[in-house]
Amino acid sequence: MNKNHKRIRTRFAPSPTGELHIGGLKTALFDYLLAKQNGGDFILRIEDTDQKRLVEGSMERIVKSLKWAGLEIDEGVKIGETGKLVEEGEYGPYVQSKRLDIYRKYAEKLLEEGKAYRCFCSPERLAKLRQEQQKNKQAPKYDRHCLNLSAEEAQKKVEAGESYVVRFKIPKGETVFQDAVFGEVKIKNETLDDPIILKSDGFPTYHLASVVDDYLMKISHVIRGAEWLPSTPKHVLLYRALGWEKEMPYFVHMANILNKDKKKLSKREGSVSVEDFRNQGYPAEALINFIVLLGWNPKTEQEIFTMEELVEQFDLKKMNKAGGVFDLDRLNWISNQHIKRMSIDDLYNRGIGFLGKHGFYQRFLKRTDLSVEEIKDYVKKVLRVEQERLNKFTEIGVENQFFFKTAEELNFSLKDIHWKNNTAEDTKKALIEVKKVLEDIPGERWTEEYIQEQLLGLAGEKRGDYLFPLRWVLTGQKKSPSPFEVAWVLGKEESLKRIEKAISEL
Ligand code: GLU
Repeated sequence: MNKNHKRIRTRFAPSPTGELHIGGLKTALFDYLLAKQNGGDFILRIEDTDQKRLVEGSMERIVKSLKWAGLEIDEGVKIGETGKLVEEGEYGPYVQSKRLDIYRKYAEKLLEEGKAYRCFCSPERLAKLRQEQQKNKQAPKYDRHCLNLSAEEAQKKVEAGESYVVRFKIPKGETVFQDAVFGEVKIKNETLDDPIILKSDGFPTYHLASVVDDYLMKISHVIRGAEWLPSTPKHVLLYRALGWEKEMPYFVHMANILNKDKKKLSKREGSVSVEDFRNQGYPAEALINFIVLLGWNPKTEQEIFTMEELVEQFDLKKMNKAGGVFDLDRLNWISNQHIKRMSIDDLYNRGIGFLGKHGFYQRFLKRTDLSVEEIKDYVKKVLRVEQERLNKFTEIGVENQFFFKTAEELNFSLKDIHWKNNTAEDTKKALIEVKKVLEDIPGERWTEEYIQEQLLGLAGEKRGDYLFPLRWVLTGQKKSPSPFEVAWVLGKEESLKRIEKAISEL
């Protein structure tokens, strides 16, 4: 860290062009962890200087996704008490389109000092230049056509109403800076193009706006995707030109999240926005845990982390240089680990909204005569049985819809329920015995363990003869949680009803 920064201040600076991408979440997460670990500030700044790319409602969606993910914003744009977006903090405004005067002031300062110049080149001329450079296999670069315009000439053009941009004049020499992940970066300035810093519409470009804001907002660490590494020398030169080199933030460029082909993950791969994962029923802490390991290696055996543990253990020095590969199986595994650790009440509260969307559950609610409290208890029992195997909240109930159906709705063929070569007569006999055993269990002993003990006592060596048909009649499925668990959840009355129905039809 630069010793001129007294406090760790990080900023996440998304452009409001859509949903929050998981790559953005990764950046925000590292910003957050570094700030929290050091008692510093995590700032949200909105970079909306490219007005053509703005998407209505995007800013709000980004802020909401961050909140859902558990990344509380200390300063900048956040959700206020009324649920509306507000700006908080002493370095505002935090939305760049509200800061145009500030950027203009610095662009003018650079112009006055001869460190920037007005460029009147038309888009046509620039396109032609690019074409020629391409033909000659040269890197595209502005040819400084307007650099040598005299002050008077430029002034005349301005007065004649000619449209212009302001370009930063890249000085001669070499630029060197330290990056936390990529180490020392060194570049010959002659390879850099004179970047536009102020556009003809009076808006700054990203380069100027981000440098000015990072300085004025006293940002200590700039954490962002590796795609910005090539722009950083220009930023370093801007800091110098503006006389702010001593306050320059420490740069941390993170490798991008990759797909299985080791290419940058894109929308074509399916879900990439935080909102998608939220809608799919992944708990926020699971997504965070998954994302953090795509950019950071704890170098211990630990794989499952809570946010508190991450804040404690995160170490900038252990950031990965290579991009982590997005692996859905891994996300599912991590998510399952988090769900397993939830209390049943927590799982219920967070999962019930997802269960409520399924038609089978809505039909159950319509026909059941259980009270609201009884339904809640019943669903919690289902969750107890399913918890171990759930990867996400949307899976609740789906594999085990028999919990929410009537015996009539189960709809299975009695032919399937015989164990091996057993006849219908054998099955019927077995079910009659099962029924008797279950009938004798007093209501208060109706627990999974006791049911199991009693039924195993009955079956002895012949488990298949008894338990195979029992599972079928309780669930209508060949695969399910154990019949003891199922009977426990269904309750004595409903279990007996299902068994009796099969007996009468055999
Ligand atoms: N607005 C830029 C983006 O959305 C921010 C890059 C930076 O953090 O400097 O990627």
